[in-house]
Amino acid sequence: AYGQGEGATLGERRKTRQIRVGNVRIGGDAPIAVQSMTTTQTADAAATLTQIRALAEAGADVVRLAVPDQDAAAALPEIVKATPVPLVADIHFDYRLALAALKAGMHGIRLNPGNIGSRDRVREVVKAARERMVPVRIGVNAGSLEKDIVEKHGWPTAAGMVESAERHIRFLEDEGYREIKVSLKAHDVAMTVQANRLFSRQFDYPLHLGVTEAGTLLAGTVKSAAGLGILLGEGIGDTIRISLTADPVEEVRVARMLLTSLGLKFGGATLTSCPTCGRCSVDMIPVAERVERRLATLKGEVQVAVMGCEVNGPGEAAAADVGIAYGHNGVGLLFRDGKIVKRMKAEELEEALVAEAIQISGQRAPK
Ligand code: SF4
Repeated sequence: AYGQGEGATLGERRKTRQIRVGNVRIGGDAPIAVQSMTTTQTADAAATLTQIRALAEAGADVVRLAVPDQDAAAALPEIVKATPVPLVADIHFDYRLALAALKAGMHGIRLNPGNIGSRDRVREVVKAARERMVPVRIGVNAGSLEKDIVEKHGWPTAAGMVESAERHIRFLEDEGYREIKVSLKAHDVAMTVQANRLFSRQFDYPLHLGVTEAGTLLAGTVKSAAGLGILLGEGIGDTIRISLTADPVEEVRVARMLLTSLGLKFGGATLTSCPTCGRCSVDMIPVAERVERRLATLKGEVQVAVMGCEVNGPGEAAAADVGIAYGHNGVGLLFRDGKIVKRMKAEELEEALVAEAIQISGQRAPK
């Protein structure tokens, strides 16, 4: 089922063609993949690899790197050799960089074929991509639509974005190439939603979702969750990126939380925590934040709860596998499956919780 919290379901997931970025399947019945992008200078292979590893550790399925020049392209073979996850090269206008990225073994390229000049260049890139079965992501941004399309529609519109995507798609289809994925991003939520809806009515290519330039950690999270939540709820979207002006590891954490909260991703720790109120006698907010960070890289599924009082805590977190509830007089409770199993000192609760969660997750981790 698609979205299955408490028996409720989200919209039926739309059927798209399946492609592969390295060993990650995208579209069709594949789980929705999480992507992020490095912020390092790609030419600095060591720094870029360190960041790729951090993103993979946080749960990124695919990582994109900017390839703005030959120095960046020259670093790709070394990066590809050591990466733990498939990589996508982000190319803008220079088809030679696309060829270099493909030759280096990059698992995907992001390139708008209408932007690279002549048909011959498109043909050359498609030939190199086809030899390796590497997909091309066509990325349409509302802010950089072709001039004639903007003129035709009067200003950037959702329909104009789809028209631009279609134009780029035709370049590849004319070469008989259909290993394509598409993104239609705007910084406006409504336009992003509308463009993706329109596109998915007309095409079965997998969609990469994102609200572009969404903003800082909090603002960008809210904006992205609003836009992507609507689309995912309608069954649209095969891979996502949360674009934040922040450490890209945060993008991955937010993306995973978004998918988990919609019942679209399983695995790892999910934290339930109460907002606290006058019944709570400890400073619980930092505890919840620490627990979330400490459990962020677990692989096996575990539901964890951090609650502020003994009265309502266990009951409110009944779905948790393991939880803690703070009480009065410096003591609190450890509970499993909503039932109290142990009373202990308040300052020992966090460690006990983390240890139990790691153990449960370890037993359930995919082998
Ligand atoms: Fe308040 Fe207790 Fe509910 Fe937390 S669990 S909000 S402390 S009543």
